[in-house]
Amino acid sequence: MESLFGDQDFLEKSSGNNFADIVLPVPIPRMFTYKIPPLLKPQIQIGQRVIVQFGKKKVLTGIIGKVHNKPPQAYEAKPILDILDDQPSVNPLQIRFWVWMAEYYFCHIGEVMFAALPSGLRLSSESKIQLNPNFDPETNKYPLDVREEKILEALENKPELSYEDCEKILGIKSVHPILKSLVAKEAILIFEKVQEKYTPKVETRVRLLPEIAADKNAIQAVFEAVQGKAKQESILLKFLRDVPVFQNPKLNERGIDKASLLEEGDSESSLKTLIKNGVFESFKHVVNRIEDEKAVREAYELSSSQQTALGEIKTHFETKQTVLLHGVTGSGKTEIYIKLIQEVLDSGSQVLMLLPEIALTTQIVGRLRQVFGSQMGVYHSKYSDNERVEVWNGVISGRFSFVVGVRSSIFLPFDSLGLIIVDEEHEPSYKQFDPAPRFHARDAAIMLAYFHQARTLLGSATPSFESYYNAAQGKYGLTEISHRFGDAHLPEYQLADLSADRKKNLLKLDSTRMMREKIQAALDRQEQVIIFQNRRGYSPYVQCEDCGWTGDCVQCDVSLTYHQFAEELRCHYCGYKEKIPQSCPACGSSQLSTQGMGTERIEESLSLLFPEARMGRMDLDTTRNKYGYQRLLDEFGAGQIDILVGTQMITKGLDFGKVTVVGIWDGDRILNFPDFRAGERAYQQITQVAGRAGRRDVKGQVVIQSRNPDNELFERVIRGEYYEFFRQEMIERKKFYYPPYVKLVKITTRHADFKVSEKAAHALHREMANIPVKKIVLGPEKGIIARIKNQYQFESMIKLDRSGDTQATFKESLGKILEELQSRPEFRSVRWVVDVDPS
Ligand code: ADP
Ligand code: ZN
Ligand code: ZN
Repeated sequence: MESLFGDQDFLEKSSGNNFADIVLPVPIPRMFTYKIPPLLKPQIQIGQRVIVQFGKKKVLTGIIGKVHNKPPQAYEAKPILDILDDQPSVNPLQIRFWVWMAEYYFCHIGEVMFAALPSGLRLSSESKIQLNPNFDPETNKYPLDVREEKILEALENKPELSYEDCEKILGIKSVHPILKSLVAKEAILIFEKVQEKYTPKVETRVRLLPEIAADKNAIQAVFEAVQGKAKQESILLKFLRDVPVFQNPKLNERGIDKASLLEEGDSESSLKTLIKNGVFESFKHVVNRIEDEKAVREAYELSSSQQTALGEIKTHFETKQTVLLHGVTGSGKTEIYIKLIQEVLDSGSQVLMLLPEIALTTQIVGRLRQVFGSQMGVYHSKYSDNERVEVWNGVISGRFSFVVGVRSSIFLPFDSLGLIIVDEEHEPSYKQFDPAPRFHARDAAIMLAYFHQARTLLGSATPSFESYYNAAQGKYGLTEISHRFGDAHLPEYQLADLSADRKKNLLKLDSTRMMREKIQAALDRQEQVIIFQNRRGYSPYVQCEDCGWTGDCVQCDVSLTYHQFAEELRCHYCGYKEKIPQSCPACGSSQLSTQGMGTERIEESLSLLFPEARMGRMDLDTTRNKYGYQRLLDEFGAGQIDILVGTQMITKGLDFGKVTVVGIWDGDRILNFPDFRAGERAYQQITQVAGRAGRRDVKGQVVIQSRNPDNELFERVIRGEYYEFFRQEMIERKKFYYPPYVKLVKITTRHADFKVSEKAAHALHREMANIPVKKIVLGPEKGIIARIKNQYQFESMIKLDRSGDTQATFKESLGKILEELQSRPEFRSVRWVVDVDPS
């Protein structure tokens, strides 16, 4: 793999440079060097899209990553064929960021490019043919048949032809064999014709002819001319009412949307007549898909503790690039962000605020919109491609100097970031699992800020231990707020003992007496309740009570998950589904029962226990469509739901004043997770869910049901002893070599044949043993799920020493090892997936 570039390379002007390195969408981990033809030299810029020939017969679109004067050693550089953009689509800082990401996360720069560009900016291609420039009919040594001659003739008149053109010329359907033969005879080249996918939104507008608009007498004359023609007169009047050109002739230029001019039943044909008679003209106008909205309020006056925190953050920023804001739920972090964002925008720099996917609701966006109006762009995965391209272009044009978005917004074309805020920085969803690049948006954001010489603010009520460790080490600045804004208090916790209630026969439909009493009391006071059920590591399934049969996925080694609503069994790994059988497929018994307890079950139990309460459920099933999530939130906010049952989704940054009771249905399920982060995650999850309770004047109550209420973790959460918990966990992590004390790299070996997969994984381990760095290699072990989509998985975990060049050396050697393994015939179709900093 090529190494990181120094800064100068990116600042260098292209003049005098003869070569360009191009990022190409191919699975090869480097850029490719091409010659810059003298004619193109004056135009060439880093970040432009260009067309190049790749291999013998392929033409590809790529992006210029670097210009320089070093000819490649191993091959003769081919020339760049053409430049697609006058202005670069991507700026040098972005390319530098891509290079870093490919290197750090061990993937191909082409994969980063693919993730970075909204698909509307990626190029779709259609195959076309052209004459091979080296083809000379005089010296051609291959005989051509009639059809081939016909194609070449056509190419004399038209420089490029599509497959469809060729079909027409020859009057046959399958032209491919003929074209293939022409390629083999070196007479033509097949190339991918590049097409933009983005389509701007266009509306038809109408205006007066300029010479009429500029002259009052001319307008008068027009009026006289249409007298007695009521319809035309009405259109003219309407236009003058909406576009008062008498007062200001300049207004005519923008014109008026044709549809709105015809709104009140005026006929299109009258307008056509006016256009034909040279009164009006119609024209096309590109409009924004994302509508402008005005700011409607000033930022709030900060409380004195918010003020202190803001001051501290700014002081830290004088000496530290990154600051961690550890503020309890409801401490008013968002308002602090708002002040900081304003200051940075006022200084002329750009701001990016990252939010975890599901938290990006109208609630938070609305709050920010009130202050920042339309200078704020929103970048969301539920946006259409065209909308995303508009945000992208808006960042370039300066329309959006502030963007709030999900993890992929780190790829937007910022050129002068001053601040990046990562809200809820502990959120696991900042890590991209699949496909590559498997990046962590928080860590990548810190790197991006570094490239921009910008600052990063990480915010959370329950910081990740990695970040807190960096703060404790003095690498990050640390600012803490330990109480809520205003009169709101942190909630009060109650542990409800499931085993004890069971023994005393107090358990009803899996609810303890404590849980029922608290819910009832909230309902009596007309307050709202949130019930949380952890989703991880758990799914309901169907089992035969007679023989123990459970439905398994045909492609993966997992049980199928029961979906009551659709009456289906589904695989969460590959999407396979089947109808729930009427009787057991193994023994024929009709005694099939649902095992486990999901949100659906809880919802059912609660409606039996509280028949008068209005129930809502928020989980993957009820929020799958675009507006499901928002609709539930709106209903809950409007008080149309009394009890909201949900998974992880209900924990994210929601701020509802009437929620006074939060119930954690199965506290033990949060604790038991086979991962070194289990404790950290449990602490975060309970604290975040609890944080939804009592966010205004009424003190909130949190009920945790558990079979082990004495577990120490509950105590720590209840007392809010984050630091103590952190300290204790750090001792363990150090002892057992876990992050942040080591770097983790996970490598998964995959193949459809169990034996091949196993053999390849072992071969990898033998090779890795020789890499001369300080490391611990674990595995290979059968994956937690041994088979996914018919691929058998073996997992290796490598713990790397954090010092010096260890990581770089390891990654470099690993690259060579994988290349060598892949070249062995027996492992040709094995896939290796490398995940750096897995979570
Ligand atoms: P956090 O992001 O830390 O959970 P929020 O920023 O959501 O906290 O603040 C909690 C509540 O307090 C919100 O309803 C917010 O509008 C309100 N709030 C916070 N700071 C102020 C302030 N300075 N003036 C008025 N209201 C505030
Ligand atoms: Zn059975
Ligand atoms: Zn499956």
